[in-house]
Amino acid sequence: MKVVEIFDSIQGEGDYMGVMCTFVRFAGCNLKCPFCDEASKYDKAKEMTIEQIVERCKQKIVVLTGGEPTIQPELKTLVKALHTAYHHVHIETNGTNDIDYFVDWVTCSPKAPKYKCECLHNEVKLVVSKDLTLKQALAHAGGQHIWLQPCDGPYLEQSKKKILKWIKKYPDLFRAGIQLHKYYEVI
Ligand code: SF4
Repeated sequence: MKVVEIFDSIQGEGDYMGVMCTFVRFAGCNLKCPFCDEASKYDKAKEMTIEQIVERCKQKIVVLTGGEPTIQPELKTLVKALHTAYHHVHIETNGTNDIDYFVDWVTCSPKAPKYKCECLHNEVKLVVSKDLTLKQALAHAGGQHIWLQPCDGPYLEQSKKKILKWIKKYPDLFRAGIQLHKYYEVI
């Protein structure tokens, strides 16, 4: 499997914000978002076996992220191996691929132009970019709250204002997110 890095840190986003986890970051994605800061890390990816990955996972919760982890052909086998080793497995996905096996927690962060979650998920995280409309955000309403994340870069201030406006309008649906790991200056 193509692994960029494995590290322990606090989860910076979503319902598990602030919880210590082991992160396994895979190389490669099937999308090309203009604000993506992950692609520059893919060059340092190493090929690792499932056994080598499991060996490096020290925390109870293991977060499989990327890039887009679901494009790794052996992901299902890795999830099973982590469960066998008594870990809880979380996946962070852009939602373009189905996940047809048990995972403890799935965070779906759908991206432009479709902003669609094709997989079953536990929480939705939307990066509030210039292009994201309220109608597209509301399309994810379905009995769960939706985390709204400000978009880094030149649109940041407008993004924060947009989030506050939407939350005032739909207080039971939206939650204002932050990247807590950046506040604590950790990865
Ligand atoms: S889905 Fe995520 S990893 Fe893939 S290009 Fe977009 S921001 Fe980057």
